[in-house]
Amino acid sequence: MDTQTGEPQTEQLQGGCLCGAISVTLRGGFGTTMECHCADCQKAMGGGPAYIAMVNRADCTFSGELRGYDVIGDSGGTVTRFFCPNCGTPTHSELGKYPDKVVLKVGLFAPQEAAAPQRTIWTGSAPKWHTVAPGIPSFDKSPPPRG
Ligand SMILES: [Zn+2]
Ligand SMILES: [Zn+2]
Repeated sequence: MDTQTGEPQTEQLQGGCLCGAISVTLRGGFGTTMECHCADCQKAMGGGPAYIAMVNRADCTFSGELRGYDVIGDSGGTVTRFFCPNCGTPTHSELGKYPDKVVLKVGLFAPQEAAAPQRTIWTGSAPKWHTVAPGIPSFDKSPPPRG
C-alpha cells in the first residue's frame, strides 16, 4: 500500500542478535520509534529503557530459533516477548491488541540515526536517573492508540 504514497522508505535493513543465531530483515524502515520506560522493559533490558520500533508484521522476517514468553503489559494486554535462547538478546514483542504489528528492538540493527526515538512512553515508571529523550512527545503511560 505504501508504494502509492511515494515514500522513499523501500530500504531493506539486515540485523540480528549478539551471537548471530537470529537474523532479521526489515523492509520499509523503522516505522514508529519509541523509548519505553515501563517496568517490564526495565527488567528485560537490565535497567534501561527499551528502544523500539513498531512495524508491520508483514515487513519483518526472522530466521533462527526464537523463544518467547507471555506477560501482561502495563497497559493490560498480553505481550509476548521474544529473545535469542542462546545469547539472550531481546528481539521483539508481539502485542495481543495489535496482531498485525511487531515491536522490534532497534538494537538488532547497526546503530543509525533512523532508529532515534520519535516519542518517549511510560515515563511515569522511569526512575529519576533514567535519561528521557528531550524534545519529543512524552507520555506518562501508554501513547494514544494509533490507527
Ligand atoms: Zn543470539
Ligand atoms: Zn516497555
